[in-house]
Amino acid sequence: MRTRIHGARLFDGEHIRGITDVVVEDGIVAAVGTEAGGRADAEVDGRGGTLLPGLIDAHTHVFDGSLAEALRYGVTTEIDMFCLPRPLARHRRLAADRDDVADLRSAGTIATAPGGHPTQLIAALTGTVLDPDDVTEIDTVTDPARAPGFVAARLAEGSDFLKIVIDDGTVHGTDLPAMTFKAAAALTAAAHDAGLRVVAHAITASEAAIALDAGVDGLAHVWADVPPEDPASRRLARRVREQGVFVVTTLAYFEAIDAGQPDTAGCAHPGHYANAVGALRALHRAGVPLLAGTDATPFAPAHGSGLHRELALLTGAGGLRAEEALAAATSAVADRFGLADRGRVAPGLRADLLLVDGDPTRDVSALENVTALWRRGVRQPR
Ligand SMILES: [Zn+2]
Repeated sequence: MRTRIHGARLFDGEHIRGITDVVVEDGIVAAVGTEAGGRADAEVDGRGGTLLPGLIDAHTHVFDGSLAEALRYGVTTEIDMFCLPRPLARHRRLAADRDDVADLRSAGTIATAPGGHPTQLIAALTGTVLDPDDVTEIDTVTDPARAPGFVAARLAEGSDFLKIVIDDGTVHGTDLPAMTFKAAAALTAAAHDAGLRVVAHAITASEAAIALDAGVDGLAHVWADVPPEDPASRRLARRVREQGVFVVTTLAYFEAIDAGQPDTAGCAHPGHYANAVGALRALHRAGVPLLAGTDATPFAPAHGSGLHRELALLTGAGGLRAEEALAAATSAVADRFGLADRGRVAPGLRADLLLVDGDPTRDVSALENVTALWRRGVRQPR
């Protein structure tokens, strides 16, 4: 089956191109360009629309139903930042076997201190969105000497990267046992030795600084405790840039918890959204690689639609150009998570494709008008 999508503008994952034909065959993009002629079994009229790579949400938590929900909004891959082992095995099978769900990469079990974030959430969610049969005791870390063993267990579990929690609960309005710098540094070194990238959950500037000291590759959130325009954010952003660390944006998450939408710990945090926007602007001005992510859960932000909201916030309050925001939700995530087969529209890459009415490189709200969607080359019913 050879499908030609013709007449659409192309956003290739980095830049808007002119009107360009794209040919899909056997699950991959076979050809790109006005010369992409030859026989085709099916023609798709893309006139008036824009073709772009399937979106990648760089920060989610996958529950039953999440991957199907994400795909409906054009999110073809989710980066899961913590999932319990039993449900994760189920989500991985689903993503491998079916084309009506988003694909995923996952940290698997998160590295946290005993009793640390997010163990309080697991307890709170068991019996509602978490099936009690899925809830197994999670491996935790205190002794830095145990770091290589913890990382080996994650490799055995199939983790695609390591996620470390550096959070003493302040922002959640509680006091939680936090991972020490020594444990974070030992875990990071052990993960790097094993060839895994390391992403840190840090919500405050001081937690982010600990993560940077530990040598992580990415931050899972912008920090949210420094007032906008405070020079502390500018200094920290420069440090993030100097260390070549990427940052996942998650403005939609801070917006949701500020709006009084209680988070899973049951508390709202007025003011953190404005701080998060300030940190994001400082990071953007410093030239830090930004990855669009939402922290989607079964609550708010939601899977799929949450990423549309994230892009609206990034191009609104965040000050990114639409093209920059779209790259942050496609090629930038693929590059930083080593997903060499996706995130761009180019010959030989996976045919995860989104056709929308209008031009999202002028206004990202065009993403709401998805007219056709392919996952691994399989066109999804609309
Ligand atoms: Zn998260």
